[in-house]
Amino acid sequence: MPELPEVETIVRDLNNQLKNKKILAIESRDKKVWQVAAGELKNILGKKINAVKRRAKMIVIDLGERYLIMHLKMTGQLVYKNKVSLIAGGQPTRLPDGQVRGEGKELPNRFTRVIFKFNDRSALYFNDVRRFGWIKLAARDKFIEFNGSLGLEPLSSDFTLEYFNKILSPRPKTSIKQALLEQKYIAGIGNIYADEALFAAGIKPFRRVKTLKPAEIKKLWLAIPKVLRSAIKHRGTSFNDYVDAQGETGNFIKYLKVYGRAREDCKNCGQPVKKIKLGGRGTHWCDNCQK
Ligand SMILES: [Zn+2]
Repeated sequence: MPELPEVETIVRDLNNQLKNKKILAIESRDKKVWQVAAGELKNILGKKINAVKRRAKMIVIDLGERYLIMHLKMTGQLVYKNKVSLIAGGQPTRLPDGQVRGEGKELPNRFTRVIFKFNDRSALYFNDVRRFGWIKLAARDKFIEFNGSLGLEPLSSDFTLEYFNKILSPRPKTSIKQALLEQKYIAGIGNIYADEALFAAGIKPFRRVKTLKPAEIKKLWLAIPKVLRSAIKHRGTSFNDYVDAQGETGNFIKYLKVYGRAREDCKNCGQPVKKIKLGGRGTHWCDNCQK
């Protein structure tokens, strides 16, 4: 699933393309993905897109009084197509035999769930093989409520050391990695960036929160935005099945220190990177560099 840096990359690219365009038509091909009532269409069509933003791992299209909220989940993908370019973000279409389908050769295709058509004849395709992704509409007051129910953005100025301590202290027995993944406290950090931030801070992922010294908590608090910003700069992390919003692979994979590198040499000390399952998630660390 794309995490904060990958979604941020998609959002920045889409914002460049969609800002100030009007949605002329919407073709829904799947009610599981398109969760907007038919009666709401009148509140979307003809409306100008003020901005495309990110909240947690979601893509938010700001229409003024209404907000379209999209989640790509495991296999969702957005492809923007105009006369001159094709821009894709999310997971490429993976066929049941494991083959990846060339993007844009066939649009719409059988995995296209929703099509947005704009006033300049460009279009945005929401494709999803497994249909876990979704699109919802919220009026302004509902959106504010929804926004308030999500954890803090780790790149915002609200993510203070005081806040970080406040969310950690009630859960002394939780492993620090699982605490980082708790979306209702901090939004957008997933498996990749939790492992990387803990490496950067020199803390073993399975340490219980109560064993962390104040200096270690501060180190981790500093490492989180640093790792995320660096990943955004490199347009996110691409494995086999992720392409960024230019239809290309993100480059951050080259800079990963531990995630996805089990048994490979630690880039810092040369010892093999270790991997265990923690809370059902593959967890990577260096036993030598992390205490
Ligand atoms: Zn090491």
